[in-house]
Amino acid sequence: MNISMSLPLDNGFLRRECPHCERQFKWHHGPIEDCPNDAIDPNVYFCPYCGETAPPDQWLTKEQVECAQRLALGESMRFLQDGFKELERKTSGNMVKFKVEKSEPVEPPLPLHEPEDMLIVQSPCHPWEPIKIDESWSEPLHCIVCGNQFAMG
Ligand SMILES: [Zn+2]
Ligand SMILES: [Zn+2]
Repeated sequence: MNISMSLPLDNGFLRRECPHCERQFKWHHGPIEDCPNDAIDPNVYFCPYCGETAPPDQWLTKEQVECAQRLALGESMRFLQDGFKELERKTSGNMVKFKVEKSEPVEPPLPLHEPEDMLIVQSPCHPWEPIKIDESWSEPLHCIVCGNQFAMG
């Protein structure tokens, strides 16, 4: 089963949630233009707030997880119904019959909405991986690529 979910972007920024401190930020979906050619995709990213690391697929927000789960649920319902339909067709001449009652389709998830909020920040060490962070955050930040601390502004 293959679920594909398209996540909305805010001017190229994708909303992320730290699996450790559960604070939200946005990272740029792919590096911006002045990325050096020899830059490699990191295996882990650092949380800009708490500095903890996690692999790239661990940063889904609760809303994104819920959206993915609903998509998966809808997909498996369709899969089951197809299976029952097949059974109904195969047994139509038999004494024992299967009849498929139409069940309510699973509501598709509401499309995620991405507001234009948060402040754009670029780390001095990896400026081609800009992030957007909470306006109210005033502590030093961690570069999401290498974890180096830097002060805002
Ligand atoms: Zn964190
Ligand atoms: Zn860095």
